[in-house]
Amino acid sequence: MESTKQMPRYPGELPLFIGGAWEPVGTRRTREVVNPATGAVIGQLPEARPADVTAALDAARAFRGWRDRPPEERGAVLRRAAALLRERVEPVATAATIEEGKTLAEMRAEVHMAAAILDWYAEEARRVYGRLLPRRGSGQRILVSREPVGPVAGFAPWNFPVVNPVRKVAAALAAGCSCVLKAAEEAPASALAVAHALEDAGLPPGVLSVLFGDPPEISRQLLASPVIRAVTFTGSITVGKRLASMATDTMKRTTMELGGHAPVVVLDDADVELASAHSVAAKSLNAGQVCVSPTRFYVQSGVYRSFVDAFVDRIKRIEVGDGMAEGTTMGPLAHSRRPDAVRALVDDAVRRGARLLAGGAAIDRPGYFWEPTVLVDVPREARVMNEEPFGPIAVLTEVSTVEEAIAEANRLPYGLAGYAFTDSARAARRLADELEVGMVGLNTFAISRPEAPFGGIKESGHGSEEGIEGLDGFLVTKSIHES
Ligand code: NAD
Repeated sequence: MESTKQMPRYPGELPLFIGGAWEPVGTRRTREVVNPATGAVIGQLPEARPADVTAALDAARAFRGWRDRPPEERGAVLRRAAALLRERVEPVATAATIEEGKTLAEMRAEVHMAAAILDWYAEEARRVYGRLLPRRGSGQRILVSREPVGPVAGFAPWNFPVVNPVRKVAAALAAGCSCVLKAAEEAPASALAVAHALEDAGLPPGVLSVLFGDPPEISRQLLASPVIRAVTFTGSITVGKRLASMATDTMKRTTMELGGHAPVVVLDDADVELASAHSVAAKSLNAGQVCVSPTRFYVQSGVYRSFVDAFVDRIKRIEVGDGMAEGTTMGPLAHSRRPDAVRALVDDAVRRGARLLAGGAAIDRPGYFWEPTVLVDVPREARVMNEEPFGPIAVLTEVSTVEEAIAEANRLPYGLAGYAFTDSARAARRLADELEVGMVGLNTFAISRPEAPFGGIKESGHGSEEGIEGLDGFLVTKSIHES
């Protein structure tokens, strides 16, 4: 398959993608793209002007043609894009690691995950079924059909630079919607690589546009537009609430995948080796910059000491370094704002009497590196116990009973993911039932699969991505009464 345009590569200038055209910097304002492992500027990114946003909205009217394509054809485009991403795994993962920081091994896995999501929705595109209702009288028929909602505005953050754009667009495209994606300015080449694969796979011009620029400015224009009929956002609760309230003004549908503060309950009967090994691996993933990253560990008294020792021993063995370097097991924080945010939480906890058992400081080298950090004796009022750290911080707390663990786990307004380690089927069932979250991991942290709905409750948002439920945000229901 011939590529229509060179894959974005570093160092270099990146484009916008509007209505099937790759728009170079030209006279637009630019912002710098930085490698978080070195602090070096690696790219220049054009900022979309209001006229660019208008052009993307006009292009999104390609919705009508895309909606009318048979679902098999839409699915075939997604499937080809998945195959292209797999073919391009090395250049895509390399560009993504250089701009976002996580290790190349993690990034390769992410590219494969993105391809798997596209494949999943390629199949689901043809399973958007309606219903035929029982007849009320002779000659009458009521059909219930599900139709694509219309053009969608998607907002993808930087922490999964390849998977997030795919999560924003795969289900929407499968459902028959067009998309204007505002992708992350911190990691733009990855989102452009996704657009590139879809274009090369045969996605018609205008069905997907990719913009970068000033996030509040672009989101304001997209959300005010009557062209956009649904909004899908991943990011912080604060920004999510702002966008949801703007969406209400024009009654747009919203899917909100917001922050989390995931609790992990470790009971006396848990396999401590397994729990500590999985916990440290999950915590170090993308340097903790994951919405479902485990943060608050509630460990029952009988295993508290052994769990703390095993956890600290393992976390000290993490090799922090450039994600491109052989042997690195945790990369830097993704951009210059993150170390200050993480430092503020650690300092606050220590000031309130917490003890550091590992890490707690930035690493003195270029880039945005932070030591994997373990805190104990953290008072409930400490900021880190209440605000999403979005960094490599674990807080270990001793609890006496499962009831206490559940109460602490459910204390916060977050409700994204929760985990538990126990060998008791009864305790596992109880935790699954009582944790107030959208996703529960029992003796596992692997909770993101293309076929399973991913999303939160409470202030962590609403709606699902992935799974058959992922289509719901992009479909409207129509009942057709015939006589
Ligand atoms: P930030 O609030 O500056 O930005 C977070 C993301 O939201 C960025 O991608 C940004 O471009 C976007 N954004 C900000 N204002 C926006 C607006 N008005 N309209 C549209 N998009 C907007 O914070 P940050 O330091 O980059 O990230 C840290 C925080 O963001 C974390 O605490 C976490 O809560 C959240 N976050 C969550 C996820 C997730 O997977 N849920 C991913 C990335 C960031």
